[in-house]
Amino acid sequence: MSEGKTNQAHKPRKIPVRRCIGCNEHKEKRSLLRVVRPPEDSGGEISLDPTGKRNGRGAYVCPNAECLKKARKRNALSHAFKCRVPDEVYAQLETQLAAIEAESLAETREETSNAN
Ligand SMILES: [Zn+2]
Repeated sequence: MSEGKTNQAHKPRKIPVRRCIGCNEHKEKRSLLRVVRPPEDSGGEISLDPTGKRNGRGAYVCPNAECLKKARKRNALSHAFKCRVPDEVYAQLETQLAAIEAESLAETREETSNAN
């Protein structure tokens, strides 16, 4: 746990990259939205994980409805999680994403109005 900060100087910073399950493009992990499938015994459902810290298997998608739709069309989550993902899960994710998008829009608006 104590390592990491001491030898930072020589290591070139590696940016973690993940592939979007919608457009299949590789992007910086932090610019993508994590979708998590919690461990089965936890009884949790597949959902978006904006913090990226929840337990379980993760898949990544661009934070936009377009990519989520593409993923839905191809049932990409089923492939990523290797289990059957019902259509209503995608519907839920779309709702969740819309909420996240609305939130970040609100933040942007606030910042702009502060600047003026
Ligand atoms: Zn994408």
